[in-house]
Amino acid sequence: MKDITIKGLTFVPYLSREDIAKQVERVAAEVKRDCVTDSPIFVCVLKGAFMFAADLYRAIDMPKSEIAFIRYKSYSGTESTGEMNKILGLNDDVTGREVIIIEDIVDTGLTAHTLRSDIEAMHPMSVKMATLLYKPESLKHGKAPEYVGIEIPPKFIVGYGLDFDERARGLKEIYVLKKED
Ligand code: 5GP
Repeated sequence: MKDITIKGLTFVPYLSREDIAKQVERVAAEVKRDCVTDSPIFVCVLKGAFMFAADLYRAIDMPKSEIAFIRYKSYSGTESTGEMNKILGLNDDVTGREVIIIEDIVDTGLTAHTLRSDIEAMHPMSVKMATLLYKPESLKHGKAPEYVGIEIPPKFIVGYGLDFDERARGLKEIYVLKKED
């Protein structure tokens, strides 16, 4: 794995494909173990979680489950704007259903908290969250996610679905913004 430069910023290798795959398998096993119904609905938060959701959903392998997609946006460049704009809604009926939200990363927790509240208002049986990455030191809103792939320090990362101004989502590994000397 080599350093990459996007729009003048350098990112250094942080998590390999193997590191990611191992944690995806573990989280999938935990989610599956805890499901109380055989037809939960998974809610993938676009765009960042698309790659994690594809791998996690396949690994969970529950034929009667469903997957839905929702989109919020709270980031501009490498900084959270602190605002939540709902872009794509959840049309599927979640009333009385076991809901598992699939997130790429929980940073301040604003997206996660808003999503939970919005879905809880639809009277599901339960709402849980599985996130690939979690920055516990940055959490300001709501509670910690139930399922976490990897806990990381409060640094800006890209790759495996996560972007820097819409770039870098296709990287198979995860990279971290290089600290300026
Ligand atoms: P929060 O609402 O928890 O502050 O931020 C959640 C959203 O911000 C994530 O779904 C993700 O889109 C974006 N985000 C937070 N931290 C990072 C990061 O380190 N890298 C990238 N690329 N996006 C991030």
